[in-house]
Amino acid sequence: MRKIFILCITLTVGLALFTGCGPSGEEQTDKTEVPATPKTTKTTFVTIGTGGITGVYYPTGGAIAKIVNRKKDTYGVRVTVESTGGSVFNINAIMAGDLQFGVVQSDRQYQAVNGLAEWKDKGKQEDLRAVFSVHPESITLVAAVDAGIEDIVELKGKRVNIGNIGSGQRQNSIDALEAFGIDYNSDLIAEGIKAAEAPGLLQDGRIDAFFYTVGHPSGAIKEATSGPRKVRFASITGVDSLLAKYPYYAKAKIPVKFYPGALNTEDVDTFGVKATFVTSAKVPDEVVYAVTKEVFDNFDAFKKLHPAYTVLTKENMLEGMSAPLHPGAMKYYKEAGLQ
Ligand code: GLU
Repeated sequence: MRKIFILCITLTVGLALFTGCGPSGEEQTDKTEVPATPKTTKTTFVTIGTGGITGVYYPTGGAIAKIVNRKKDTYGVRVTVESTGGSVFNINAIMAGDLQFGVVQSDRQYQAVNGLAEWKDKGKQEDLRAVFSVHPESITLVAAVDAGIEDIVELKGKRVNIGNIGSGQRQNSIDALEAFGIDYNSDLIAEGIKAAEAPGLLQDGRIDAFFYTVGHPSGAIKEATSGPRKVRFASITGVDSLLAKYPYYAKAKIPVKFYPGALNTEDVDTFGVKATFVTSAKVPDEVVYAVTKEVFDNFDAFKKLHPAYTVLTKENMLEGMSAPLHPGAMKYYKEAGLQ
C-alpha cells in the first residue's frame, strides 16, 4: 500500500514537471479551448557551422544548404548556416550538440578524433563523424611588401596574426613557425585575430602579415591584396620535416591568378590540408542521408557554386577523413556504388 502511495506521488510530481502544471498549474490555465493541432509535417532544423564570412567555409555551408533546402518538403529537413570562429569551434559545438554539422579542416578532424592538440585535455572526440570532404585549403601567408617578408623565415620580430583561438589556422601557423625554429611566443609579436579582420589590419599598417588556412579564391585574400598597401604571398618551402611529422599535411600552391593585386607573378609554394564536412553520431541517419544524397545527386550543380570546387570529384570527396563515416552518409555511398 505504502509503495503504491509513493508511486502515485512520484507520478503526480513527474507529470507536474513534465507538463509544467500540476494541481497549482491548473489554477493558472484559462478555459479557452485549445484548437486541434494543424496537420503539418514535422521539420527538423539543422545548422552548419562555418567560418568567417569572407572565407570559403561560409559559402560552402551556403552551397550545401541551398542544394538540400530545395527538397525540404521531401525530407522535412531545413538547413541554416552560421558564421563561426572556424574548425576547432565547429568541432566543439557539434560535440556539445549546439551545431549539427560543420566544415572543418582535415587535420583538425584527425586531432579531435585522436584526442591531440586542442583536444589533449578533453580526450578523443568519439562521437565525431565524417560525411565528405570538400575543397583543398592552403596555409596562406600574406605579407606587406614594405615589411620585407618574402618567406616564412623572415617573420622574426614582425607583428603577425596567427589566427583566433577556435580557428583551424592557428595550429597550422604554430606548426609552420616551429618547423623553422620560430617560437610564436618569443620570436614575433603574435596576434589572435579572426581571419575576417586581418585584411583590414594589414591594410591599415597594424600588422605586417597574417596566416589564413583557406581555399582559393577567398574574399578575405582578395580584400587583403586589393588595397593601397602593396602585399605579396610569402612562400613556405623546405617543409619536408613538417610533412614527415604530420601525415595530414601535403605540399600545395597558392594560385595567384585569383589575386591580380598581389605582387607575386608565379604560384606560391606552401603546404595544405582539405576542408571536410562533419557531424555527430547523435544526428539521425535520415538527416545525414538526405544531406549527402542531395549534394552528390546534384554534384554538377554543387560544383558550380564556388570556384574552389573545380578540382572536386565524387571520389576525392571521400578522401581525407579520419573520423568514422556517419551511417547515414555510408548508406548513400553504398547505394551510389561509391563504397
Ligand atoms: N580553415 C579555416 C578554419 O578552420 C576557415 C577557412 C574558411 O572559412 O574558409 O578556421
